[in-house]
Amino acid sequence: MASLLAAKEVSSVELTRAHLDRTAEVDGAVHSYLHVDAEGALRTAADVDQRRIAGESLHLLAGVPIAVKDVMATRGLPTTCGSKILEGWVPPYDATLVSRLRTAALPILGKTNMDEFAMGSSTEHSAWGPSHNPWDLARIPGGSGGGSSSAVASFQAPLAIGTDTGGSIRQPAAVTGTVGVKPTYGGVSRYGLVALASSLDQAGPCTRSVLDAALLHALIGGHDPMDSTSIDAPVPPVVEAAQRASVEGMTVGVVRQLGGDGYQAGVRARFDESVQLLVDLGATVVEVDCPSFDYALAAYYLILPSEASSNLAKFDAMRYGLRVLPDGDPSAEQVMAATRDAGFGPEVKRRIILGTYALSSGYYDAYYGQAQKVRRLIADDFARAFEVADVLVSPTAPTTAFPIGEKLDDPLAMYLNDVATIPANLAGVPGMSIPTGLAPEDGLPTGIQFLAPATQDDRLYAAGAALEAALLDRWGGPLLDRAPDLPKGASR
Ligand code: GLN
Repeated sequence: MASLLAAKEVSSVELTRAHLDRTAEVDGAVHSYLHVDAEGALRTAADVDQRRIAGESLHLLAGVPIAVKDVMATRGLPTTCGSKILEGWVPPYDATLVSRLRTAALPILGKTNMDEFAMGSSTEHSAWGPSHNPWDLARIPGGSGGGSSSAVASFQAPLAIGTDTGGSIRQPAAVTGTVGVKPTYGGVSRYGLVALASSLDQAGPCTRSVLDAALLHALIGGHDPMDSTSIDAPVPPVVEAAQRASVEGMTVGVVRQLGGDGYQAGVRARFDESVQLLVDLGATVVEVDCPSFDYALAAYYLILPSEASSNLAKFDAMRYGLRVLPDGDPSAEQVMAATRDAGFGPEVKRRIILGTYALSSGYYDAYYGQAQKVRRLIADDFARAFEVADVLVSPTAPTTAFPIGEKLDDPLAMYLNDVATIPANLAGVPGMSIPTGLAPEDGLPTGIQFLAPATQDDRLYAAGAALEAALLDRWGGPLLDRAPDLPKGASR
């Protein structure tokens, strides 16, 4: 699309309108969007078309439309984080990432659906109803960023932004046959991202190819003085790496702890095939041991709720969104309680209670403190593994997309979706998921995850693009070409 725009074979208005039309046709069934901004997107598109005609030099992606997860603050556009408590909130400012998109003149199509405050693996925890997987509308598109993944997979947007605190970019990518990247912690500014767990959150690209992800990563990444954890160094050379697309001379470590029992047979089979392809492409494959990864999920579900309980305390009925007034002459505390009761969904309440408990005096050392020690051990495991391997690999998610409703009443089963993605967030290292094919038993997409040392994100792109090219050869075209046609004009 960028090349067609540059060659003036298509205008941004045409591209943007085509995507808005597609949304009008299929989003009744898919529900990728919480809010579509047709007017704003077309305004940006018309403006960039004019600038192009005037001969202005533009960003490579200028005029290519994009969808943004509803967890990013967007000036003038509603931002709900999938929660009733933020209903009606229109931010007075843009997240840094969003201003970079605007400066580069990418039309913002709208805000995508998500699990409430990014807590979940299916988007079923959205207060506005789930998104659906374009491969099978009765199944989940992953979470928490299932709106972004399904928008990209159903061709409602060529690019999207996600956030990944424990896997919310990578797992949705895996189950929808798309590409998702969680950059190194601090690689993309968190300013204006509504925080779930500040020490784990990271925004990144959701796309249909590794090169697309690299182009978007290069645009949104880089130092931001507004984020105290932002890395003050240039973005790693991700675009060059994606173009190089090579694993020649690389050592790829298969993580023993992320695979085997609990992973669906078809997911494992496709993963093994991809590992063999990496060998054929010139990589050396070794097995690496990361014993502390077995405790990652448990540590994450103490650290995340602890940070979330603190971050969500600001939703107090005074400053943002919803305010519920109980009858009579309620005190401020009663207004707060009534608002939180009505405004937060069950998963959010569960995690606030968990986090408050884990941080309470007398339990702090036993739970939060222990979890932090495990976090250190996980980082040590990564460091040891990266002494022998340039990148690590595992299946991204243990299963293909499961039916909507199947795990909704079983929080532990839901949490287990992120068993392979969480270690990267705990250690701050970058990760990428790319499709490996379709599981023979259910015909649904499967994914492989690449992990690299912090700030070496370019390795993900070199290896991911190499494998992607080999797989495209094998398939004779993009995997998404095999997705079923979506019903037009259907409503949920
Ligand atoms: N599914 C994980 C959770 O529920 C990850 C969420 C995320 O990455 N935002 O916490």
